[in-house]
Amino acid sequence: MSAIEFNQLWKEKLLNRFLTYVKIYSTSDAESETTPSTERQWDIARYIVEELRTIGLENVSIDDNGYIMGYVPSNLENDDKPTIGFISHYDTSPDFSGENVKPQIWENYDGSDLVLNQATGFTLSPSKFESLKRHIGQTLITTDGNTLLGADDKAGCAEIVTAAEYLIAHPEIKHGRVAIGFTPDEEIGRGAHKFDVAKFGAEFAYTMDGSEVGELEYENFNAAGAVVKIHGLSVHPGYAYGKMVNAVLLAAEFAQSLPANETPATTKGFDGFYHLMDLNADISEAKLQYIIRDHDADKFEARKKFMEEKVAEFNQKHGAGTAEVEIKEQYRNMKQQFEGKMYIIDIAAEAMKEAGIEPKIKAIRGGN
Ligand SMILES: [Zn+2]
Repeated sequence: MSAIEFNQLWKEKLLNRFLTYVKIYSTSDAESETTPSTERQWDIARYIVEELRTIGLENVSIDDNGYIMGYVPSNLENDDKPTIGFISHYDTSPDFSGENVKPQIWENYDGSDLVLNQATGFTLSPSKFESLKRHIGQTLITTDGNTLLGADDKAGCAEIVTAAEYLIAHPEIKHGRVAIGFTPDEEIGRGAHKFDVAKFGAEFAYTMDGSEVGELEYENFNAAGAVVKIHGLSVHPGYAYGKMVNAVLLAAEFAQSLPANETPATTKGFDGFYHLMDLNADISEAKLQYIIRDHDADKFEARKKFMEEKVAEFNQKHGAGTAEVEIKEQYRNMKQQFEGKMYIIDIAAEAMKEAGIEPKIKAIRGGN
């Protein structure tokens, strides 16, 4: 078999696996309390488990919460290498329908508008999504415009399973023990919370979930949520003179008191922000929900303090007890975990270069 035929075979395996995964409905649901959050996620979970067993992974397991683990055993004579893990999630985002996905394949993309759906006229255009231009000449996979594709993160699942299959089929590639793990519910912020790290047994692991080829990320936001409550006083408008305190107006005033150039729409790169996500108000009470984000730990602390100071200032102006704030930590920048362990990033960058891919190291404006 020539090298070219060989690549074609594995390319087809990967493509078919991806197409199979995306057709399995596995949307998660933030309203649900169970794990996985939706019954339907078991369909893809069971499918992947069967596949892993067929391929010949060792100790394939799925726990009561739908977390899948399996191992490619080491093929080294003297195995002193650490176990390295690869992780992805099999749920898809509840933001848009993930049912009845009909993938379409566009070979040798020419840079023009893609009419995904003749009936609805739904079109994917480089005039709206400039990044499409970077994919001229490549094969694109899209939906028919009625659903999500679910490449996030069934692309990651397909990559990992196919890589494991490849390693097992090619014992001449020497490697230590490889752990692979698949989780439910990442899209609703619950991918990691029931992950049994000890059972997984990897010294370190890579999550295969991003957007562009070559992305390598090990920094994310420090994150907190802040709820500001403002208490007003409701009085009949006819008798309100000197008495009514309108929490709707106060809420607007408070929102304006935070820096307008420190919102998600006015920041990028390593700039942090205050993001007003939701505002509920009537005359007697207003509730403003914020998220606070910063990559830098000190600036993050300063932001939380600033929020509290703004509330204190507001109370000074409008009377004690007018406003209160509750700030809750959400997650931390994972960069702190890498002190003295930058080899984990270096190995990944090196592997990319060997595969002819230029690593693009950048900070995630998000987290989990
Ligand atoms: Zn994802």
